[in-house]
Amino acid sequence: MTALGWDELDVLFVSGDAYVDHASFGCVLLARWLIAHGFRVGLVPQPRWDRPDDVLVMGRPRLFAGISAGAVDSLLAHYTAFRKKRRDDAYTPGGKAGARPNRACLVYANLVRRAFPGLPLVLGGIEASLRRVSHYDFWSDSLRRPILMDAKADLLVWGMGEHAVLECARRLAAGAERTALAGIPGTAWLDRLDANGEPANLPKNLRNQPGVRLPSHQEILAEPFSLLHLTRQLEEQVHQGVDWAFQPVEGRALVLAPPAPPLTSAEMDALYSLPFTREAHPSYRKPVPAAEMLRTSITSHRGCGGGCSFCSLALHQGRAISSRSQDSIVAEAAALPRLLGRGRRSKEGIAISDVGGPTANMWQGSCALRNKQDKHGREDAESCAGSGTRHGCTRASCCYPDVCKAFLTPQQEHVALLRCVAGLPGIKQVRVASGIRADLARREPHALAAYTGEFTGGQLKLAPEHCAPTVLDLMRKPSLEVFEEFLASFTRQSRQMGREQFVVPYLMSAFPGCTDDDMRALARWLRQRHWQPRQTQCFIPTPGTIATAMFYCGKNEAGEQIYVARSDAERLRQHRILMPQEDRSRAGY
Ligand code: SF4
Ligand code: SF4
Repeated sequence: MTALGWDELDVLFVSGDAYVDHASFGCVLLARWLIAHGFRVGLVPQPRWDRPDDVLVMGRPRLFAGISAGAVDSLLAHYTAFRKKRRDDAYTPGGKAGARPNRACLVYANLVRRAFPGLPLVLGGIEASLRRVSHYDFWSDSLRRPILMDAKADLLVWGMGEHAVLECARRLAAGAERTALAGIPGTAWLDRLDANGEPANLPKNLRNQPGVRLPSHQEILAEPFSLLHLTRQLEEQVHQGVDWAFQPVEGRALVLAPPAPPLTSAEMDALYSLPFTREAHPSYRKPVPAAEMLRTSITSHRGCGGGCSFCSLALHQGRAISSRSQDSIVAEAAALPRLLGRGRRSKEGIAISDVGGPTANMWQGSCALRNKQDKHGREDAESCAGSGTRHGCTRASCCYPDVCKAFLTPQQEHVALLRCVAGLPGIKQVRVASGIRADLARREPHALAAYTGEFTGGQLKLAPEHCAPTVLDLMRKPSLEVFEEFLASFTRQSRQMGREQFVVPYLMSAFPGCTDDDMRALARWLRQRHWQPRQTQCFIPTPGTIATAMFYCGKNEAGEQIYVARSDAERLRQHRILMPQEDRSRAGY
């Protein structure tokens, strides 16, 4: 602060992750974004939580404190699928667990309140975002209230936070009261319920718009299927981008503004061109494993049209895809040899581990229907608080049950981008580590040939997840035939190129609706292919997904009863059908 000539901060972030100056660390990204907009921002990573000393070190910020548990929900970071304590944490120096508390958002909110009484508090990050309404908490096996009720913060930013956090800073800097933060797109706050059971103090921008009433906390307790209904409503809110919503909870209203509009390509370019050094904080004596993994990876886009029922992307980043331009990605790659090229690396060249997003081959993906309506409906969008365009699509996924005809994924251009990056001076290799969607890749055989031949490094990560049709349906995944067909072309092409290449399949056990027989069928399917799975994920009901709601209520989306492997013993039994030889301590049970 002294070097920068700052006598105080405007905004202080407190994060459950270590400090790594990389765009994949949410608080760092937002801090750099706010600094680029003229604010003075500090970040306290992984503070001790038994005393406020670490949080106090840069003094009381002028506007607000932003609190995040980090890149992963703190309970997911700390416990395995079998509720055993994890020993490692990729977001902590030395990779050792224990640097952040359980329920970090709540603990940090208390800590900041103790350090700076009366300071406006804003929650954000994945933990807050996916616990924004009533949610099932696997670790306590209970339905928990919206996190704001326990954290007692002023506002919660859900989804991607750039627009919302900047607007908070601007409003507070202009002298607004903390209550004036209500109504910012992409946020949630608590209100009183009026005599009609509606939010009593709706902000002006929402008053004349229709809102959606979500099932109340009590209603979900009485009828667990309501959690599934609520999750579907939230998915629609994020996808449609226009309605505000509220949930009655214990006599109060948790109000959700419409989503923040996805970043435009120009905004994405501006964001990712900020001067990230990719280095962990120099005070750390041990490396941060996630920083090492991410050092040579490049984010090309956000969002995923997949809509898989177990994935939190649908409620966090959404299905609309925000992509960076080719020029911006190439510029970042071109700068890497200079930024990282020390010692041996500079002679050998840099190996780029990933150019991707949630699914690599969705770069520049868009919806033809949304594009068309954007062209003609921009005015409508703006009259809805600038939050998006209702485009009438009611599908829960752009890829399930089949790839929607309106889903445009220019994979040839993606391949051209990868080739362009690979041809840069000082770059020796480019890989796509974030994985590709087989159902999209098979639509463009030339792109498929390039992915398998040039950018996989001998191993292609794919996520069939299962082979049983009922389970795949519940997951909203494509049928096994799609995967088999992809596999046949992959094998053919590998042979033609004279290369020995493998598919690394991602599989899941104990998914809601999956029986022991389904697991045995999966084991047989693997045996037929002489595949020995090295890793299988036992389903973890993380807050906020459709699959978690199915786990909670024991029903599918149509309201029909399904079998759920619920107890740890049942879950373990399913897991062991696939992984009989697994090292128990590595697997965490
Ligand atoms: S394809 Fe991957 S990132 Fe996309 S929704 Fe499915 S699991 Fe999530
Ligand atoms: S119309 Fe098709 S591509 Fe567009 S959002 Fe809906 S499912 Fe996705």
